[in-house]
Order: sequence, then C-alpha cells, then structure tokens
Amino acid sequence: MAKTDLYKPELVIVISGPSGSGKSTVIDALCKADERLRESVSVTTRKPRRNEVDGVDYHFRSKSEFEKQVAQGSFLEWAEYGGNFYGTLKSEISVAHEAGKDVILEIEVKGALQIRAQDLSPSRGLFIFIVPPSITILEKRLRRRKTESESEVNKRLAIARSEILEIAHYDYWVSNQEKLLQEAVQQIQTIIAAERSRIDTQLIETVNQLLGIDKSD
Ligand code: 5GP
Repeated sequence: MAKTDLYKPELVIVISGPSGSGKSTVIDALCKADERLRESVSVTTRKPRRNEVDGVDYHFRSKSEFEKQVAQGSFLEWAEYGGNFYGTLKSEISVAHEAGKDVILEIEVKGALQIRAQDLSPSRGLFIFIVPPSITILEKRLRRRKTESESEVNKRLAIARSEILEIAHYDYWVSNQEKLLQEAVQQIQTIIAAERSRIDTQLIETVNQLLGIDKSD
C-alpha cells in the first residue's frame, strides 16, 4: 500500500493479563483518551454477565455458531478459557485499520501466542502483559466483583498462575497496582507512542517514494 503523504503504522495491540488484573478498565481508559484506538469486540460462547450487551462487550454466540465461524476461517485466533470459547474476528482488525485506527485486543495468552506466530504485515503486533500486584490481591479482586462462582474463581486463579509464566512471549509488562490505574494507562500510552514511531520496512518504503528512489534501479 503506497502511503506517500503521512506514514502511519497499523498496529494490532494485544493486551493480556490474568482475570482480575484490570485489563478491561485500563483498555476503556486508553480508548477514551485516544481516538486512534479501537477495541475489538470478541466472539464468545460464555453467557453474558449482568450489564453486558451483545455486540458491545462481546458477540455472544452458541457453541455451534462459534464452531461454524471457526470452520469458515473467520477468526484471527481463538481459544478455550474456563470451559468457554473466545475468538477475535479478522474483520474486527480490518474494519479498525480501514478507519485509520489501531486495534486493541483484550485476549488470554493462548490466543495471543497464536497471533505472535503469524505474519500480520502490513500490520504490526505489539504485545503487552498486565501484571497484578500479587496473587492475593488478584484473588481479592476476583471475589469482590462477584461475577463468578467460587469454583470459577478458583479455576481463574489456577489459569492466572499458568498465564504469568508465559510473560516471556510479550514485548512489555505493566503493573496495575491498586489505586494506580492512571499510572498503568500512562505507561501503556507511552509504549504505544513509541511503537507508532518505530522505523519499519513500510516507513522506509514511504521515505523512498517521497525521495523518488526506485529500488529496482
Ligand atoms: P471474561 O470471561 O472474563 O470476559 O474473559 C476471560 C478471558 O478470555 C480473559 O482473559 C479475556 O481477556 C479472554 N478473551 C476475551 N476475548 C478473547 C478473544 O477473542 N480471544 C482470546 N483468546 N481470549 C479472549
């Protein structure tokens, strides 16, 4: 794609972190503050929680509908988490990029690793892991929000431990301390700003076009 006037990378910003680490709150704040960010709405077979709206929080689908979309190749990635399926639609990425926005995905680790393994060009992946202050605080947050049953909370805590072990596959980590949400948000804004200024092959192509340099000469 020729972009001779204004160069702008197309980012796929992946944010993971254990359930209860505060990902959703951080992402909401990021999107509110930056109109160049658009959050992808995932498909899930999980039942909606109170206050969750179909098409806004998730596209809530049955297992057979989800499987149909898997067979159609609609997903960039998908994974099973706590007995339910979750997936990112390829169309969520293209719609955001066509609107000139970077897309932000709040997904668990297995899905993030599937994206890590793909060539997204001309887009670029940016992988950020949100770390809770401690497992004890994580546990408190999960119980406090009362959206899961006792056995589901325990399942999520077990998954949290295994997810934290995968941090090596991410580019950056951010700590979401109690009462320091704004600090976590600012740190991620700084990371995104740096990534937008990274020199990549597309930028070099744009510079060459501006200078009238034909690489085939
Ligand atoms: P929850 O049930 O709390 O909304 O989400 C459970 C986990 O699934 C969270 O870690 C969340 O980030 C993750 N998740 C949400 N959407 C997707 C998705 O599209 N793909 C994958 N792989 N994980 C997702």
